[in-house]
Amino acid sequence: MDRQRLEGQLAELPLYQYAFFRTDELLFSERVRYICRTECPMYDTTWACPPAVGTVEECRRRVMAYDEGVMIATITEVSDIANIRETLDTRADHEEITRQVLAMVRAQTDETLTLSTEACAHCERCTWPNAPCRFPNRMFPCVESHGILITDLAEKHGIDFMAQGNVVTWFSLILFK
Ligand code: SF4
Repeated sequence: MDRQRLEGQLAELPLYQYAFFRTDELLFSERVRYICRTECPMYDTTWACPPAVGTVEECRRRVMAYDEGVMIATITEVSDIANIRETLDTRADHEEITRQVLAMVRAQTDETLTLSTEACAHCERCTWPNAPCRFPNRMFPCVESHGILITDLAEKHGIDFMAQGNVVTWFSLILFK
């Protein structure tokens, strides 16, 4: 990966921060999966979420097939962070930026894996579990679905994720080799 070229392209995007990382820095936790299962209303509703993505160990093996990646973070200010609908609506812009970063990475390598925010929202009604995903190339499983402790990675790279006031922070990981 020509990082200098990629960094030049990333500088054109409205990113809050980004960091290159090695996959052996990632922490995988069954605790993250437990939170998916017990607290997330999207659990068992899309191909982007558990259990469709497989066990944490299967996810870990999928991720560790890549040596490195780039973590991107965007921030958006909302009028009331407690308003879940308004907060979730800011995901679309982050997902668009994630697609742009993926295109930049793909210009250098075809071997990529992208993990992004929460559950997939491409279709009004997901086909899970009755039929294959309609858009497997556009669907990005969420970072947490793979048991990844994103706050740990952000801390390791000095990314301040403790949103102040009504600021929403979204993360994506674009892995490549
Ligand atoms: S693209 Fe459609 S079918 Fe595939 S995971 Fe997303 S919502 Fe489900």
